[in-house]
Amino acid sequence: MEMHALRRTWAEIDLDALAHNCAVLRRQAGTDFLGVVKADAYGHGAVHVARVLQELGAVYLAVSSLDEARELRQGGIDGPILVFGHTPPSMVGDLIEAGITQTVSAEAKAVEYSQAAAALGGTLRVHIKVDTGMSRLGFLVRGRHYAGGIEAICRSCALPGLDAEGIYTHFSVSDLPEGEAYTREQFALFQQVIGDLAAHGCTFALRHCANSGAVAHYPEMALDMVRPGIVLYGVGPGAVEMGLRPVMRLKTTVSTIKIYDPGTDIGYGRTFHTTQRTRIGVLPIGYADGLFRGLSNRASVVTDQGRAPIRGRICMDMTMVELTDLPAVKVGDEVEVFGARQSADELAALLGTIPHELVCAVSMRVPRVYLSQGREVDRSLRLL
Ligand SMILES: *Cc1c(COP(=O)(O)O)cnc(C)c1O
Repeated sequence: MEMHALRRTWAEIDLDALAHNCAVLRRQAGTDFLGVVKADAYGHGAVHVARVLQELGAVYLAVSSLDEARELRQGGIDGPILVFGHTPPSMVGDLIEAGITQTVSAEAKAVEYSQAAAALGGTLRVHIKVDTGMSRLGFLVRGRHYAGGIEAICRSCALPGLDAEGIYTHFSVSDLPEGEAYTREQFALFQQVIGDLAAHGCTFALRHCANSGAVAHYPEMALDMVRPGIVLYGVGPGAVEMGLRPVMRLKTTVSTIKIYDPGTDIGYGRTFHTTQRTRIGVLPIGYADGLFRGLSNRASVVTDQGRAPIRGRICMDMTMVELTDLPAVKVGDEVEVFGARQSADELAALLGTIPHELVCAVSMRVPRVYLSQGREVDRSLRLL
C-alpha cells in the first residue's frame, strides 16, 4: 500500500497490536479490565480503540469528561463508561440519559449530584474516588482525615438518586522503581478504607486502583478490575518486559534532498553548522504535527537504511535530517519518527517526559490510518 503517495505525514494505528496488548494485559491481570481511552485514546482515536477494547471484553472504558464520553456513545460504544473528571451538576441529566458513570470526589459534589438526579427522578451511577496520596481528586482519607473521610463516603453513598457502584484510587509513583514504598502505602490505605466502609455496610461491586505502572509492577493490586492507559498502547512502564507492541507508528516521508557545502547553517537560529559536504533531507513534519521542538539536534528518525539525525531546529511544518551516511535514502522514502523501530519511550526519555505526552501531542492535522492484518481498514475523517 503506497500510503506516502497520498499524504505527507500520518499515524498508523495497528489494531492487531492493540488487541495483542489487551490480551496480554488481561492475562497478566487475571481480573476484569477497564480501558482508559481519555484524550482521544491517547491520540490513537477514541472510537476505534474503544470498539476493539469492547470486543475484547473490557468491562469498562474511562474518559476525562462528559464530552469525551458522548463522542464514544455517538460512535456506537454502548458499554459502561466512567468519567474521571468533574462534570457540572447541571449536566447530570445528560449523564443519566447517556448511561454514563460519574466520579464523585467529595461529599459536596455527591450532594449536588444527588439533588440534581432526584429532581429529575433518575439515578446517577457513580464511582467514589479516594485520595490515598495523589493529592488531586478524591475524598481525603490520609492521617487525621481518616475517620471524617470514611463518614463522608458513607453519607455520600446513602444519598438518594446515586448508585455507588465502584470505588477507586490513583497511584502517583507506581511507574517508578523508587516509588514502591509509597505505592504500597497508598494501596494499604485504600484496602483499609474499603474494609472500614464494608464494616459500615457500604460495599462496592467494582474496586479498582491499578494504572499502567501497577499492572506492570504490582499484579497483587488488581482487585476487581485493572485500569491501564499507556501500556494498552504498547509503550510506558514495563511494556517491553510484558511483550507489548507499540500501537501507533508516526510516519512521514522525505520530501526534498539537498547537498550543502561545509560551513552552511541549517534552519532557524542557525543551530547546526555543517563541517563537511552534507546531505540534508526535509521531512514534512513539524511541531504543529506533534514533533516536539525540544528534540531539535537531539533525536533521530528511522529510515530503511538506518537512523537519520535531526539537524537544526524543528520547524512548525518541516524538519531537516542528515542523510550523508545514508546515500541510498531518496525522495519519497518512508521515515518512522516513532513506533516499531524507535519507541516513543526513547524520545520521551530524551525530552525528560513520559510517552503519554508524545502520543497525545500527535495533532489533528495528522491523519490516523487504521490497520489490521497489515491492511488498511479505516482512516480518520480528516483524510480524504
Ligand atoms: C490517566 C489515568 C489512568 C491511566 O494512567 P496510565 O498511566 O496511562 O496507565 C488511570 N486512572 C486514572 C484516574 C487516570 O486519570
